[in-house]
Amino acid sequence: MKVLIVGANGQVGKHLVSFIQDHKELEAKVMIRKEEQASYFNDLGAETVVVDLEEDINAIAKAAEGVDAIVFTAGSGPNTGADKTVLVDLDGAVKTMKAAEEAGVKRFVMVSSFDTTREAIQSAPSSFAPYVAAKHYADEWLKTTDLDYTIIHPGALTNDEGIGKVNAASKVERNEISREDVASVILATLENDATIGKEFQVVKGTKSIKDEINSI
Ligand code: NAP
Repeated sequence: MKVLIVGANGQVGKHLVSFIQDHKELEAKVMIRKEEQASYFNDLGAETVVVDLEEDINAIAKAAEGVDAIVFTAGSGPNTGADKTVLVDLDGAVKTMKAAEEAGVKRFVMVSSFDTTREAIQSAPSSFAPYVAAKHYADEWLKTTDLDYTIIHPGALTNDEGIGKVNAASKVERNEISREDVASVILATLENDATIGKEFQVVKGTKSIKDEINSI
């Protein structure tokens, strides 16, 4: 299975690309936004394509040609304003869904935020609320499509080494999770079609990632 990783140059993305390249049945196609980011991925043997999420849907659809699945793990990050949150985390995500449809790619894995409910938007601090709203509407849009989606809601991301153990369910107690373990969760999700049409929260925990994702 060939997987387009949108946001591949990000911290979760880089772990994911290297896991995919080490996997016997998976192959990464890496979507980056700067040519100079390509050599890192070429060294891993991954195909690269340079597209910015602020470009039009056709550019993203072209990047999605020939793949079997898309993982969206891009984000404008905390150092930009609400304008980029709307353009990347919301519009970029929805354009990627439309691009998937245009390119005939059914499988779509979304890396969302821990809690994207309407209540979470209302209770978020004002600086964080636009991000939660963007993630909320991106998730809602995805659920209205015919894509074979899975929505992953990770807890607060850390750069700790992965422990390979998580708690995952539709609702779990808020906690941290390492970016490396999030990448392993994405991998386990891609490997298990029973996760299609589902969404779950995931934090560090006590059960093996494979077992926990298989129980979703
Ligand atoms: P990250 O390191 O900030 O990576 C985000 C990636 O998105 C970067 O590679 C960045 O590209 C890319 N990107 C930004 N704007 C783009 C654009 N216009 N076009 C194309 N790509 C663009 O994020 P992370 O830490 O890996 O997090 C991954 C996901 O988890 C994000 O969706 C985030 O919202 C979500 N999340 C975060 C937390 C948390 O605690 N931080 C919790 C739950 C979920 P460049 O490398 O070129 O800058």
